[in-house]
Amino acid sequence: MQGIRSFIKTFLLWELLQGLWVTMKNLFRPKSTINYPEEKTPQSPRFRGLHALRRYPNGEERCIACKLCEAVCPALAITIESGVAEDGTRRTTRYDIDLFKCIYCGFCEEACPVDAIVETRVLEYHMEHRGENIMSKDKLLAVGERFESVIAADRTADARYR
Ligand code: SF4
Ligand code: SF4
Repeated sequence: MQGIRSFIKTFLLWELLQGLWVTMKNLFRPKSTINYPEEKTPQSPRFRGLHALRRYPNGEERCIACKLCEAVCPALAITIESGVAEDGTRRTTRYDIDLFKCIYCGFCEEACPVDAIVETRVLEYHMEHRGENIMSKDKLLAVGERFESVIAADRTADARYR
């Protein structure tokens, strides 16, 4: 009996018809895909993308070289060296993040007591040459300066959720 049923199903291309039925059922449903990159999905204010170092509105670096972010990073992606600046404050002389090691967990920004290291909404970036995976302090500050208005707005929105 099982053999006959199987033969009839094969003869009628039953599995093919089942597949076509699934296609028919979904043909007129709202699409769950988008035309990336022309269309983008919504992003949370907590999105964890490319890192940035922030400054205060007067231009002063926020980072005080406490190294909490370096200590908490589970991927050992952050390397910090520090020194004393001309005004007597402690500052980083080197602040590198290896993007190949980073797992975008967000622990660094959670640990930072002065909101200096943050992860931005930037997710479209690439590397073409050896060494570009290292985000140096200059590069991180440049990202921070470029996206400061979005970063500040996101952190205000995020505070409302907490
Ligand atoms: S996001 Fe996580 S893995 Fe990446 S640098 Fe920060 S703490 Fe390290
Ligand atoms: S970014 Fe924040 S946590 Fe990391 S060294 Fe600077 S002040 Fe400390």
